[in-house]
Amino acid sequence: MKKIAILGSTGSIGTQTVDILPAIDAEVVALTTNKRINLLEEQARALHPEMVCAFDENAARDLKIKLADTSVRVLSGMDGLTACAAESSADIVVTAVVGMVGLLPTLAAIEAGKDIALANKETLVCAGELVMCKAREKGVSILPVDSEHSAIFQCAQAAQGNRLAKIILTASGGPFFGKTAQQMQSVTREQALAHPNWNMGAKITIDSATMMNKGLELIEAMWLYNLDPADIEIVIHRESIVHSAIEFADGAVLAQLGLPDMRLPIQYALTYPARVHCKAPRLSLAEVGRLTFYTPDNEAFPALGLARRAAAQKGERGAVLNGANEAAVGLFLAGKIGFTEIAARVAYALERIPYQKEITLDSVLAADAEARGLVLA
Ligand code: MG
Repeated sequence: MKKIAILGSTGSIGTQTVDILPAIDAEVVALTTNKRINLLEEQARALHPEMVCAFDENAARDLKIKLADTSVRVLSGMDGLTACAAESSADIVVTAVVGMVGLLPTLAAIEAGKDIALANKETLVCAGELVMCKAREKGVSILPVDSEHSAIFQCAQAAQGNRLAKIILTASGGPFFGKTAQQMQSVTREQALAHPNWNMGAKITIDSATMMNKGLELIEAMWLYNLDPADIEIVIHRESIVHSAIEFADGAVLAQLGLPDMRLPIQYALTYPARVHCKAPRLSLAEVGRLTFYTPDNEAFPALGLARRAAAQKGERGAVLNGANEAAVGLFLAGKIGFTEIAARVAYALERIPYQKEITLDSVLAADAEARGLVLA
């Protein structure tokens, strides 16, 4: 039986992970949240983990009271999150927290020899070089949960040692597909949060609307599959049925298809290499009828170009791009800046912060902090 720690168990990916648990042979040993302690308490009572963490200190205090009649250890803050990742008896850690906060616990879990079901793309965006290097050193697997990267991973099972010549990363295009930059200046928070196909958390939904999500995914794919970013093509696919594709040297293209539902990629990361029944609805190609593909509009969605450039430059550019974006999305969600200002602020941070080629964990954290500071100033 696999022992699983779920970081971010009360979020969108976390709750869907809990949802598929009965289908797989697994025991949950750690759960974490930021502040949603009512749901965390419910999960802890149902799943009996060894330890839980509420990142927020006040929430952790309340959670401790709620779980006082159980034997569950209640932790808080970054130390607690890291303990759940590295000190629990987990074999595999699902990293479903949102943002840069996932980096330190992910590194600690790898250091402790635990496999990673990676749903926190910001970790690879900020420190892909460090994370992949550490994973190789420790012999741990990084199993992608992101639907696109799971699709690539599933297709890559057919590689039999052959190199991937190219990755075709599909993008829904988000709610503002077809709009010009000028038309997007006046869009509201509610419009940006209304994703046409996927039901996800707020941060990633805004990233999908700006298409920064696809830029972050390009960087994630570059590190996961050790590819030149020039060999990663982004294609708009409005129906979100083809979850991504790979191309081999002979030109053969393999894709993975399915209805847009995260439960399959989450489950596959946890059961790999086995496949078991998944409760997500089944795809009927005849019902879908038509699949369409378009070239992305790089002018209307400048986030794509910013991410592509950061991918090519490597160094701490990913940390600057991501830190600036997290801060700018926070401002937009708080109603403090307009939609098109998000990418503008990221561009500003990339322009202002000097490029550093060599990275360490400290330089990544410093670049992240500097980028956030610039955006919030
Ligand atoms: Mg994705």
